[in-house]
Amino acid sequence: MDLDVIETANEADTAAAGQRLAATLPPGSVVLLTGQLGAGKTAFVRGMARGLGASSDDVSSPTFTLIQEYRGGRSTLYHVDLYRLQPVEIGDLGLDELMAGEDVVAIEWAERWPARPADAIEVAIADEGEDRRRIEIRRYSTR
Ligand code: ADP
Ligand code: MG
Repeated sequence: MDLDVIETANEADTAAAGQRLAATLPPGSVVLLTGQLGAGKTAFVRGMARGLGASSDDVSSPTFTLIQEYRGGRSTLYHVDLYRLQPVEIGDLGLDELMAGEDVVAIEWAERWPARPADAIEVAIADEGEDRRRIEIRRYSTR
């Protein structure tokens, strides 16, 4: 297991950490994000989209879909937030099919998904007070 620890002091730095991670991701990577509400998971995923080279004007509206797509980069990024979903709804999302493809999948509140893969990249963000965040990135295997 490889562990990276990054301390950030603002949202832009957290997004930059996501951008750096995404720049290293092979197609088909799965990133599981955990951390309380407001930790910075969404900020990190927005940075990932940038790191993959997605164009900011090609993002599906989260109002209409449970899975947001960031297109136009090396890989499409699928961004899922499980926060308000019941287990049965999580099962209906088709995450297994999504993961089987060559795109990159980022999942917030991943601990709510019982069938999450054990070998995915894990990003845990902890609020350390005010604007400080501690980001732990764990990689269990290289794909
Ligand atoms: P989550 O998706 O984990 O609920 P968001 O990314 O939506 O969190 O929101 C994080 C909030 O915390 C934003 O309002 C952001 O401006 C604020 N914030 C303050 N400091 C940081 C930091 N170091 N990293 C990320 N977000 C931060
Ligand atoms: Mg969020």
